[in-house]
Amino acid sequence: MANCRTKFGTLKKTRFAPTPSGFLHRGNQFNARCVSDWAKSEDAILRLRIDDIDRSRFRHAYLEDVFSRLKEWGIQWQEGPLDPADFLKHHSQHLRLQRYSEALSELQEFVYACTCSRKDLQKAQNVEGCPNKCKEKALDWIPNQTALRVHLIQGTETWQRPDGGWESVERPALVPDPVVWTREGLPAYHWVSIVDDLDMGITDVWRGADLLESTGIQRQLARLAGFQSFDQIRFGHHELIADEFGNKLSKSVLSQNQ
Ligand SMILES: [Zn+2]
Repeated sequence: MANCRTKFGTLKKTRFAPTPSGFLHRGNQFNARCVSDWAKSEDAILRLRIDDIDRSRFRHAYLEDVFSRLKEWGIQWQEGPLDPADFLKHHSQHLRLQRYSEALSELQEFVYACTCSRKDLQKAQNVEGCPNKCKEKALDWIPNQTALRVHLIQGTETWQRPDGGWESVERPALVPDPVVWTREGLPAYHWVSIVDDLDMGITDVWRGADLLESTGIQRQLARLAGFQSFDQIRFGHHELIADEFGNKLSKSVLSQNQ
């Protein structure tokens, strides 16, 4: 596979990671094109990863739409599911719950149980940690009832882009701590994304600017867990495409992480 190696002899791998919670839109198309063009230019492997951990808005039609749209857009991938049936049988993130759970043990000393409701979070503005200060209460974790959060520190996170440039994001003091395990008893988006990127050997990620803050969070979480190789992953963020009404089209994966 000499043609899949860079001049430094290192295999590069990126991924397109749609969420089947709606039909793919022009924003997804732009991201897929960006990822695919970059992979071709770098002789990198493109993996299709479908982020189905949050099934609250999942519909089979959305899953089918991923494959039909990618075909229509002429996007080809070398790793990942071949079709909806193959995805459900071999690639769903729900088949990897044990793995996400085992990996979470690396964060054991940093997690705290949080009983705040979605309503508490919606009402609260400029909160540090969570509205009811659950970290200070050191509550017991009750699986399927309490969420697990990790306290992250304020400061600037800086990383290299796939194209060699640099990016950074500032983490303010007054923001909620990210959820790593939800009240519904499932790993949250950030945690799944970290573990998948590591397990799949992803080296380079292109994602929309709506996920800039997520990149900073994921890097901090991975560092706390001692996943040193995550620090080597290059992340680039592109501008978001607007729909006909001028609304920015984002990946929309973060509802469960508030
Ligand atoms: Zn709380």
